Amino acid sequence: MESSSKRVACQAEGEDVWARTLFDGVPDAIYVIDPISSHILDCNRHAYEDLYLSRAQVLNHSVLSLQMDVRGLPAWSEIAAVIRQTAVYRFQGHHRRADGTVLPVEITTSAVVLNGQERFISVARDISKRVRSGADEHDWSVLYDLAQGVWDWRYSEGALYFSPNLKRFLGYGPDEMLPVLATWKDNVHPDDLPIVLSALQAHISGRRSQFRATYRLRNRNGFYLWVEDTGVIIDAHADGTPVRIVGFIHDVTNFKTAETTLQMHAEQDGLTGLYNRRRGMELLLEQFSAAQSSRDGVLVILVLDLDFFKRINDRFGHLMGDEVLMQSGQIIRHALPAGAVGFRWGGEEFLLGLNLPLTDASALAESIRAQFVSADWPDTLEGECITVSIGVACYPRDATQLIELIAEADKAVYQAKSLGRNRVAYRR
Ligand code: GH3
Ligand code: MG
Ligand code: MG
Repeated sequence: MESSSKRVACQAEGEDVWARTLFDGVPDAIYVIDPISSHILDCNRHAYEDLYLSRAQVLNHSVLSLQMDVRGLPAWSEIAAVIRQTAVYRFQGHHRRADGTVLPVEITTSAVVLNGQERFISVARDISKRVRSGADEHDWSVLYDLAQGVWDWRYSEGALYFSPNLKRFLGYGPDEMLPVLATWKDNVHPDDLPIVLSALQAHISGRRSQFRATYRLRNRNGFYLWVEDTGVIIDAHADGTPVRIVGFIHDVTNFKTAETTLQMHAEQDGLTGLYNRRRGMELLLEQFSAAQSSRDGVLVILVLDLDFFKRINDRFGHLMGDEVLMQSGQIIRHALPAGAVGFRWGGEEFLLGLNLPLTDASALAESIRAQFVSADWPDTLEGECITVSIGVACYPRDATQLIELIAEADKAVYQAKSLGRNRVAYRR
């Protein structure tokens, strides 16, 4: 009895050794993956040697930490759903090695059941040394590899092909993304689509020598990436109708993000979050021109000046003064109705342009004054009251030119100051 169970155990052990030897001997990297978390549950010798890691180290990784082209669990879950539906799922990506270098791989994955549990088996093949075919003029594979994204539109056939790099850039495998125009169109940001299509039409109709557009393109995760897209007709019928159009896409997201930040800094006052004086004046001028050109146009200017602000700086220091300015900016921003312009005029002075009737503008001025009184100011101010004086001037009643109107509102502030501060004053 005892000896036969030992024999069975030995046999099982023998099988394990045999299976492990076979597993480690396969000349490709093999990973066993948990479909839910993407954790690596097992891998063969090739897999860990390719990554310059030990087996134990690889088992601390997941697809998300190893594979540079799958970003975030939602993207993985979507890919996992496609793997379950496909007999063999192909994906081209990059593995991150222990020394920081990158290994380009083509991965084939299938779903299996191991010991009653669903698992994914991935085979990763090193494609860094993939031999390129010679200089065949019809062979685009070199360009496909070099460019971030290539598209090839067989216009007359109605097919639009996407290069593997383009698919990877958007988070898809080489067998995904149906080669039709709708695949691309559905992923262009709806706000950008009209202008992109008209740029495309301008080239197709011969009005432009190239198609060129910068727009937002959605990736698998649902995020929009900024891309620059350039294309040209490379073959056409005698009447000029395209046969084939080929183009390149490249990622300009970082550049666009930096541009947006720069623009924000150029227009915003860093302390209060309101527009700065330069941008505020531009917007106020637009608002004023609109009021001037409409028949019953009105524009009310409010100039706000904090009361005894120097005392705050003197008693509690400039940092506390800045804190008060920041909070003042918040009160003003929240009080601004749609279409109003509000900006920091300078120091502790703010200017608001309201396209409201004078009665409504006065009510708003009074409400802002009251909000300063009741705001929750820092305790460190030791009961020091923060109040504001507001001067009001109204176009066309008080002045017909913008500069005069601002000067009138400014005079009204001084009236408010001389009448005892913490009040709203008018030019008449
Ligand atoms: P009044 O009620 O007459 O307006 O009195 P005031 O003390 O507010 O008088 P004034 O307008 O002359 O003083 C404004 C002060 O605001 C002077 C300046 O030191 C301070 N100030 C201007 N810009 C800043 C800033 O960005 N941060 C801080 N902390 N203080 C500023
Ligand atoms: Mg002042
Ligand atoms: Mg002041």
